[in-house]
Amino acid sequence: MKIYIPDIPVEGLEIELKEHTEINNIIVPVSAQLKVEKVGTEIMIKGSLTSDVIFQCSRCLKDFSMRIFINVDVFYHPVEELKGEETHEIKIDELDMDFYSGEELDIMNLINEQIMLNIPMKPLCSETCKGICIKCGTDLNAGICKCETLHIDPRLASLKTFLENS
Ligand SMILES: [Zn+2]
Ligand SMILES: [Zn+2]
Repeated sequence: MKIYIPDIPVEGLEIELKEHTEINNIIVPVSAQLKVEKVGTEIMIKGSLTSDVIFQCSRCLKDFSMRIFINVDVFYHPVEELKGEETHEIKIDELDMDFYSGEELDIMNLINEQIMLNIPMKPLCSETCKGICIKCGTDLNAGICKCETLHIDPRLASLKTFLENS
């Protein structure tokens, strides 16, 4: 969905959308309520968005769906503004600052960016996820595998390695 910037009215533009977008090669639903306002040459976008993103648990490697809520508060500066200004410095604390060029702003780009920024580095299907056994790959949430006793007693573990290698 693209916004034609000259069309943004003085009072701002309310956007409500239900779409699908691609996050990590998976199509997921996304809904957003945004208010787009022009402040001088800048475009201010505020609101919220919700998406059901598919994550892979970093412990048990199972895919799971998690609803994420994101508060959107982004400023867009015209990229042309940068070229003319030698002294323009991007402040590091202005993290939610982006640039637009030309007369169009793609709302789906903004949404995708916001989702990517809010994806946890190490997603967990559950805080108590036990993960998988590094030896046999058994999902330890579903049950304990036979290797478990070996993990408990390292002497037996080394005996097992000894027997396997002999
Ligand atoms: Zn898990
Ligand atoms: Zn195991």
